[in-house]
Amino acid sequence: MQRPSLSAARVSIAADAAEAEVSRLYEAAQKVRDELAQAQEAVDLPTHRDIIASHMLICQDPKLLQSAEEHIRAQYISAVWALEKTGEDLCAAFRAIDDPYLRDRVQDVRMVIGRIQSRLHGYQYIVAGQEAPAVLLAEEISPADAVELKLGRILALVTVEGGQTTHTAILTRHLHIPAIVGASGLMELAREDELVIVDALKGYIYLDPDEAELQEFIRRQGEYALWQKQVRRGAYLPAETLDAVRIEVRANIEETKECESVLENGAEGIGLCRTELTYLKSRGLPTESALYAGYRTIAQSQAPALVIFRTLDLGADKVGDQHQALKEANPDLGLRAIRYCLRHQDIFRTQLRAILRAGACGNVAIMLPMITGLQEVQMAKRIMHEAITELRTEGLPHDAHIPLGIMIEVPSAVMIADALAREVDFFSIGTNDLAHYLLAIDRRNTHVAYLHEPLHLAVVRAIKHVIDCAHREGIGVSICGEMAADPYCLPVLLGLGADVLSASPQFVPVIKHLVRKLRKEDCLDLARKVMMTTDVAAANSMVTEALFEVLREEVDFHTTMIHIV
Ligand code: PEP
Ligand code: MG
Repeated sequence: MQRPSLSAARVSIAADAAEAEVSRLYEAAQKVRDELAQAQEAVDLPTHRDIIASHMLICQDPKLLQSAEEHIRAQYISAVWALEKTGEDLCAAFRAIDDPYLRDRVQDVRMVIGRIQSRLHGYQYIVAGQEAPAVLLAEEISPADAVELKLGRILALVTVEGGQTTHTAILTRHLHIPAIVGASGLMELAREDELVIVDALKGYIYLDPDEAELQEFIRRQGEYALWQKQVRRGAYLPAETLDAVRIEVRANIEETKECESVLENGAEGIGLCRTELTYLKSRGLPTESALYAGYRTIAQSQAPALVIFRTLDLGADKVGDQHQALKEANPDLGLRAIRYCLRHQDIFRTQLRAILRAGACGNVAIMLPMITGLQEVQMAKRIMHEAITELRTEGLPHDAHIPLGIMIEVPSAVMIADALAREVDFFSIGTNDLAHYLLAIDRRNTHVAYLHEPLHLAVVRAIKHVIDCAHREGIGVSICGEMAADPYCLPVLLGLGADVLSASPQFVPVIKHLVRKLRKEDCLDLARKVMMTTDVAAANSMVTEALFEVLREEVDFHTTMIHIV
C-alpha cells in the first residue's frame, strides 16, 4: 500500500496570508478529528478504539497546533511546513524518553501529522481498498487506517516502519494477525500481487516462493495452529515441572485495561505493575484518590491473586512537564526511580498511600525500583510506615502489613543482595536493566545491541548470587525482565532457582507450557554447565541442545515468543 507522496517542503507565504493559513490548519485538524471519530465508531475492539482515541487527542493537542500556529505567524510558512517542524520537535522529545513504549509513540504523532498534512494538501486520507484476502505490505499503518482496511481480510501485515511496541504491533497482537514490523528495504523488493509467505514467528518474508516452500509452509501452518490450541488449553493449568516443582507465572502490566488479559491468559496475579504511564499521561500530578481508584480496580480484578505495584520508576529524562524535567548528562545514572521518589517525597508518599489503601481491597505488595543500597530501602520503609500511621489516624482502610520487595537491577544491589534480603520480603530481578548496567550496554543503543547476551556469564552469575542470597534469608525471587519470556533462558532461570516468572500476559500460556515440559533436575544440570563456561556462544548452544532434546516434538517453540509482533 502506498500513499500519495506528500512533499513537506518549506513553502513561504505572504505576511497577510498568515491568518488564513492558521485557519486552514485548525480546520484540517478538525476534519481529521471527525474522520477519526467516524473510524472509531466502526470498531468493536476496545484496544483499537483506545488507540484511535489517542490519535484524536494528538490531533487536538494544543502543543501541536499552537506551536504550528506560532511557526506560521513568526516565520510566514505554510501550515504543512509548520506542522513538519512542530512534528520534528515533538518526535525528538519522545525519542529522548527512556521507555521503548513511549518512544514508539513517535509513530503515532507522525501518523496524525501525516493525516493533517494530507488534508491540507487537499487529499482525503483514503487507504487503497482490498477485496480479496491478502498480505498487506505498507510503509506504515495507523490504527485508523486499520479500520478502513477491513482487517478481517488481512492475512498478514508487514510494515517498513515501526518497532515491537508500536501501536500497529500492539493491535496486530490483539487481533492475532501475523505481522512483521521494521522490514526496511521491502518496498523496493516486493511487487504488487506477488505471492508472499510471512513467517512472523521467525521474522522471515519469502517473496515469490516456489511450490516446495509453499507446501512446507502450508504444513507448518497447520501444525502451528494445533500447537497454539494445545498451549491455550493449558493456560489455566499450573506450571509444574515433570519432577513436580511448582513455578508461579505472573503477568507484567502497565495499564488497568490489561487486567482482563492477565486473567484470560491464566496468569497467577501481576508480578510487575509498572506505574509510570499514569504519571506521564496525566496533565498534572495524579491525585491520591485517582491513583487509589486505579490501583483498587487492578487489585480487585486479581484477588485473591497477588498484585505487585512497582513504585514510580520515573526520573531523569522519563519525566513529564509537570515534574520539571531535569537535564542530566547521564540520565541513566541520574535522579531516577527510587532516587527521584526519595527526593520528591510528597509524590512518593501520595503513591504509597494509594497502594496501601488498595491493599485493603485485595492481595497487594509494594516493590521499589533501582535500589542501589540499604539506605534507600530503609528510607522508603520509614516513609511507608509514616503513611501507614497517617492512614490509621485518618481512619482510612489500608493494609498495614503489606509485603515490601525490591527490584534487583543494578550491580551494587547484586553485590549486597545478602544484606538487602534481610530488609525486604521478596526480590524481583529486572534483567533488562541488570544486563544494561552489568554489561554496560545502553538498552536503546542499536550499535551495541549485539553485545546484549542474556546468558553472558556475568548476568548468569549475578542472578545465581541474588537467588542464593534470597533463599538463604528465606525470601522468594521472581524474574520480571524480558528474560522470563525467552524460552532459551527459561531452563537456565529454573536451574538457577527462580521461584516466579513474570512477563507480558500473552506470553504466560507459553511459559507455563514450557515449564511443564522441563525437569528441574535437568535445569539444575544445565545451569551448572552454563555457569562453567565463559563463552556465551557455547552457553547458547548448550541451551539450544537441551531444549531440542526436551521439546523435540514442539512446533517452532524457540521462536514463538521472540518474534510474535
Ligand atoms: C527490568 O529492568 O528488567 C524491568 C522489568 O523494568 P523496566 O523494563 O520497567 O525497566
Ligand atoms: Mg528496570
